[in-house]
Formats: sequence, structure tokens, C-alpha cells
Amino acid sequence: MSNDFYEKILDNNKKWVETQLKIDVNYFKDLSQTQTPPLLWIGCSDSRVPANEIIGAKPGDVFVHRNIANMVVHSDMNMLSVLDYAVNVLKVKHVLVCGHYGCGGVKAAMSNDSIGIIDNWIRHIKDVYRHHKGELDDIENENERFNRFVELNVKEQVSDLAKTSIVQAAWQNGQELYLHGWVYGLNSGFVTDLGVNYSSNDDLDDVYQLNI
Ligand code: ZN
Repeated sequence: MSNDFYEKILDNNKKWVETQLKIDVNYFKDLSQTQTPPLLWIGCSDSRVPANEIIGAKPGDVFVHRNIANMVVHSDMNMLSVLDYAVNVLKVKHVLVCGHYGCGGVKAAMSNDSIGIIDNWIRHIKDVYRHHKGELDDIENENERFNRFVELNVKEQVSDLAKTSIVQAAWQNGQELYLHGWVYGLNSGFVTDLGVNYSSNDDLDDVYQLNI
């Protein structure tokens, strides 16, 4: 990355502040008071899937957590902390897992190549493959199989969100909390709602249900 790029982003920031202040002189003063975002976004780190831009959201609208392949790993303290804060302090109404077609993390999970320490992260995605091996192995076209794997990965992550003690406790306390799964199309810009909806822990397999 050239030095020009670095200078450019510093300059962009100054211009952005000027533009915002021209629209509303109190813009930053007001924003700095508090945040009440209605949505927690769990997305991929991929540079082409910026959370706010693709849904036309403004600063203050979306609490964001991103990692490689938009994973909800039940022992990930980072994800759990973000989720806990979003649900219990910010009281978000929606938690959205947004995957994307062409995801490098999901692609890596389909291959046997070792990339480095990330192999251990990708392994969680391989578990999703194993879980849906029958369906995925039956798809002969590799690209179609890849696309389906991306979708199934999102569905599994939404299900894993529902299994967390954080989400189950919120539901049992009568908190309004909706989980959603989307896939973003890099080459269209459109998202697809996968229609995976959980709104109570009765939707979970018996073994995962917690009496909190
Ligand atoms: Zn990705």
C-alpha cells in the first residue's frame, strides 16, 4: 500500500468532518452523547462487505463484530463480549449474521491446504461441512457447492447464536430479540435473507435448551 493511500485517508477524514458539520453543526456533539443501535451485525472481515454502507446505516445505527467468515464460536471471548454488551446493555432488537458469496474463509474450509494459524479458525467452518456433508457432497458443480456452503455456514452461526446463554437468557427474560441470517452477493450488491428465524429457546434442539 502506497504512502499516497495513507495520506489520502487522513485527508478524507478531514473532508468528512467538514461535510458532516456543514449538514449539522452539532453532529459529533450529539453522536458523542450515547448510542442506541437497534442492530448487532456479525459479518466477515472481508474488505468488500462493509456493514454500514451496504444497508445504508449511519453512525450510531449498527454495533459491529467482524471476523473471518462471520463465525459465532462459542468459546470466543471477543464475540461473547460483543454479544453480551449488545444484548444486555445496548438492548439491540436484532442480531444479524451476514455472510457473503465468494468468502475466502469458507473457500479455505473446502480445501486441504494449510495456510497457517488460521487453519484452527477455519476448522470451525469445516465442522459445518461435516454436519452437512450429505447435501454438500451431492452438489457436483463446485461453485454451486461453495455457494451452498456459504449459506449453510450462516445458518449454523445463527443457530449457534441462539444456543448461547446470553441469547437464551434474554428470551427467557421476555426481551424482544430477533436473530437473522443473510448472504451478501459481492457481484450484485444485494443481500438474501435466508429466513432462519429463532425467537425463543423452544426453537432449539432439546439438548441445547437452558433453564436460566
Ligand atoms: Zn468472507
